[in-house]
Amino acid sequence: MIHPAELKLLRTALATLAEGYEDLPPFTADFDAEAAAQVLQRVAKRMHDNYPYYHPQYAGQMLKPPHAIARIAYAISLWVNPNNHALDGGRASSAMEKECIVDLGRMYGWDSPLGHLTGGGTMANLEALWVANKLHPGKKIIASQQAHNTHRRICDVLGARFSAVSVAGNGRMDVAAIEAELRTGDVGTIVATLGNTGLGAVDSLPEILELAAHYGARVHVDAAYGGYFGLATELADEARSSFDCLGQVDSIVVDPHKHGLQPYGCGCILFRSADVGRFYKHESPYTYFSSAELHLGEISLECSRAGASAVALWATQQLFPLEKGGQLSQWLDNSLLAARGLWQRLTDSEYYQPLMRPELDIVVYAVNAPDALEASSRARRVFELAAKKDLHLAMMQLPVDLVRPYHPELEANSETVTCLRSVLMKPEHIEWLEQIGGILDDCGREVTSAVRESG
Ligand SMILES: *Cc1c(COP(=O)(O)O)cnc(C)c1O
Repeated sequence: MIHPAELKLLRTALATLAEGYEDLPPFTADFDAEAAAQVLQRVAKRMHDNYPYYHPQYAGQMLKPPHAIARIAYAISLWVNPNNHALDGGRASSAMEKECIVDLGRMYGWDSPLGHLTGGGTMANLEALWVANKLHPGKKIIASQQAHNTHRRICDVLGARFSAVSVAGNGRMDVAAIEAELRTGDVGTIVATLGNTGLGAVDSLPEILELAAHYGARVHVDAAYGGYFGLATELADEARSSFDCLGQVDSIVVDPHKHGLQPYGCGCILFRSADVGRFYKHESPYTYFSSAELHLGEISLECSRAGASAVALWATQQLFPLEKGGQLSQWLDNSLLAARGLWQRLTDSEYYQPLMRPELDIVVYAVNAPDALEASSRARRVFELAAKKDLHLAMMQLPVDLVRPYHPELEANSETVTCLRSVLMKPEHIEWLEQIGGILDDCGREVTSAVRESG
């Protein structure tokens, strides 16, 4: 779980950090190390009560361990504890954040976007929709039925009108339904999701951009999950064409704490036009004393924010530059191939029925059964049985209409079907496919034969 080099690297880097403060009169805050040691033992034991997120046999939700470099850089910065709200609170980490933003912007072909890190994708989307709503006051914001539920809630917070657009069988926003909304003349902003949270489907951005241009709507892309996949080389053609035109949208959200190897607390909002900075203008008499340079708090809704996140991201981007064909890109390819591999394996299995071929690295699959209620019940049993065998999956409720095209014999005796879902985010998942597939087969066999016996 813990690479032996990690603690040594942390110690060495901390010694260098401390050297920078040697001119000051010596001072170290007191603390009772023995009392702390006891509490920390309890902390370590309490933390056992988690799924083993770092392990490849955790193949459930969107949980990916941060890379060691991010973990160590984050830890180093805690001895300074910078606050990236203002330069007074974190000069070095604010500079690092601005450099990170430049590199993230370049990944989308933007030279001078306005942007900053946030606590996560929710805050980042809030800023995007806040600006969208200022530019098109009173108009609707539309997003996919499979978009993250945060969009509906954010619109509620903003007092903006919201409509969900239905999805096609492939999990993407239905383009005809988008056009029907646009034709009313009532839509200000389309939210396209590149990699929706449930299915990993990639909305068809080229078509959405064309419609938006025709009807004068703004396009915001929620790529909190999928935002790094443009670096991959193994995308299928349709997803590729969506990622290739990301540079033409108005704003993008990407979560470095999803596929960017970061610990939680690291989202990012980018606006193509720095001009929207005008909406953030405010007077804060207590914050901005130290310089006329840009303080990140001047272009952000959040105030205090962990400078540690910027330090960790900066270190990671130094080691793994955002380049096609680089290490990060190969890791993303591994995830794409792992998901396709598992999808194929499940397609060939007599126990499972996978849904759409994964566009990213998320595989959603029903358990074979005569009807929807039985498929749901079997999915829950496989979920529990797999956990006992140390394979950790996730479950997802889907409308029966989205499942039936892949499973035509399924009798629709319920509105929804519980499916299993595996997000194969870890670069190592591809090497563990046989192991994961083997456990799934065992579970499928056991659950099915239990049904036969009781039937
Ligand atoms: C995760 C996710 C969000 C929410 O982001 P948080 O970082 O969890 O706040 C929004 N949209 C999409 C597509 C996501 O995958």
